[in-house]
Amino acid sequence: MKKQYAVIGMGRFGSSVATTLYKEGNEVLAIDKNEENINDHKDSVSYAVIGDATEEETMRDVGIRNFDTVIVAIGDDIQASILAVLLLKEMGVKHVVAKALTKNHGQVLSKIGADKVIFPEKDMGERVAHYLTAAPNVLNFIELSERFSIEEIHVPKSMMGKNLRELNLRAKHNVTVVAIKEKNQINIAPDPEENLEADDILLVIGENSDLENFANLT
Ligand code: ADP
Repeated sequence: MKKQYAVIGMGRFGSSVATTLYKEGNEVLAIDKNEENINDHKDSVSYAVIGDATEEETMRDVGIRNFDTVIVAIGDDIQASILAVLLLKEMGVKHVVAKALTKNHGQVLSKIGADKVIFPEKDMGERVAHYLTAAPNVLNFIELSERFSIEEIHVPKSMMGKNLRELNLRAKHNVTVVAIKEKNQINIAPDPEENLEADDILLVIGENSDLENFANLT
């Protein structure tokens, strides 16, 4: 279903969020106090409005309360980010997601009512570090909790030409194959009797330490 989002602050992060939401078929209002930033995004969102998100009148004029989610993507100006979140919550916006630069900034945003606080730089830094230290076989990962993840892992050489039943990965390596990517297709119900091929990619769920051992197999 089409949802309505407002993104405040069309810097690098905000514009990436806004244009992706729009490409995925949502209605997106972009707000920035900088005219140039708004002109740059006229065609990549539903509506683009020049305005200061810390001013109540501006927020009322755009009907900010009607949006399902408002994302405050103001970066460097911490004061403006805090004032904007405070105002949005006071105006009754149900779901406010706010970007924080530092831990302290994040704590303040949570305290004043932000429903979700995100740390894009910190999160991306952690992801990049994880990629750099992961085995070369690991293509992608989703962290499910501190202990568990799902990883996309190239089929180890020693497993090519064998099937999932005989490999018995759950018993031998404590990991579970939930899907197999074959060429550009993803098979979410892999046949245990089908032999794995050289360019198959396994989507494997398990404890991080077991996944690490598995990804280091050759
Ligand atoms: P990034 O690191 O994601 O590029 P920036 O801090 O550079 O983030 O960009 C934030 C954007 O938010 C800028 O385009 C700026 O014009 C906008 N902005 C800052 N304060 C306000 C405000 N009070 N109201 C609306 N937009 C704002």
